[in-house]
Amino acid sequence: MADDRAKIAEFEKAVADFTGAKEGVAVNSGTAALHAAMFAIGIEPGDEVIVPTMTFAATANCVLYQDAKPVLVDVLPESLLIDPAAVEAAITPHTKAIIGVDYAGHPCNLGALRQIADRHGLILVEDACHSLGAEYSGKKIGRIADLTCFSFHPVKHITTGEGGMTLTHRPEFAERMRRFRNHGISSDQRQRTEQGTWFYEMVDLGFNYRITDFQCALGMSQLAKLPGWLQRRRSIAGIYDAELASLPYVTPLRKDSDILHAYHLYVVKIDFSRLGRSRKEVFLKLRSQGIGVNVHYIPVHLHPYYQQKLGYRRGSFPVAEAVYEQILSLPMYATLKDEEIARVMDRLKEITQTV
Ligand SMILES: *Cc1c(COP(=O)(O)O)cnc(C)c1O
Repeated sequence: MADDRAKIAEFEKAVADFTGAKEGVAVNSGTAALHAAMFAIGIEPGDEVIVPTMTFAATANCVLYQDAKPVLVDVLPESLLIDPAAVEAAITPHTKAIIGVDYAGHPCNLGALRQIADRHGLILVEDACHSLGAEYSGKKIGRIADLTCFSFHPVKHITTGEGGMTLTHRPEFAERMRRFRNHGISSDQRQRTEQGTWFYEMVDLGFNYRITDFQCALGMSQLAKLPGWLQRRRSIAGIYDAELASLPYVTPLRKDSDILHAYHLYVVKIDFSRLGRSRKEVFLKLRSQGIGVNVHYIPVHLHPYYQQKLGYRRGSFPVAEAVYEQILSLPMYATLKDEEIARVMDRLKEITQTV
């Protein structure tokens, strides 16, 4: 019991070192990492935070947790990444931050977003739950945005069971997040033991977002395997890219030349109307053949909660809505075997070539 948090600090340092970030604050989910980021930058009622609608709901929910307003914006049709022009158009005097999402593992346009953020005095937050190990302009994701949030849920690149981490180069943000994950209390158990005192103060309204030592021990062993897993994901994507080039109705998402992709997902767009089959038909057929296809994501503004409580309507974001009808995620994980990749391609070819 002498130092029960040693593994947490070790894991935080290891992830920070891996990405080149100064500080990492580990919490018990990616959602908590996003919430901690919103807290650290002082998001409060009346504030607005710009979020792309093509993401997992947690990216926008973290703004609601602070009683502030997530302002959803549309995405680019070829990459499904946040559209910088839409961000610029959504800025008001209440805007405090932008959350870019590295959809599928492709870094969002951090250069353009940084310029917009600097011009308007906004904080740039990155939801990098898909992009651990990705790079933008030769720099690892984690050291570019003001705050970068990762998830260690079992479907992500590395797992701690449940878990997450926010990286930052600003020590004051890290300090606020360390308090936030521990009820807003100003010193933790270890500090109190070291100081031999019972005294503590709650200075913020925090949460219990603590991750455990044994989860971080798992995280350390996972992190050691990450480079090999990333390499495998990239080679699977290379095979998919090459095979899909000859398929008429199937197009992979665009990949920019100045990035290194982390391939959390491999998403294709299928022109179902020209193919003459519905997505549901293709989806169910592939599933019945044991091919684990999926759809990521239903745009946030189409969820009942966002329509009923925030007044979003179908039709608000035409690009995301149109692309949503076309997307399908193909199996993508490091342990996928060559024979399985070949089978995915054979079944996909079958159903997209015969009409
Ligand atoms: C997984 C994920 C989250 C949430 O992470 P949890 O660890 O499940 O809370 C947030 N945003 C995106 C884009 C994700 O993929």
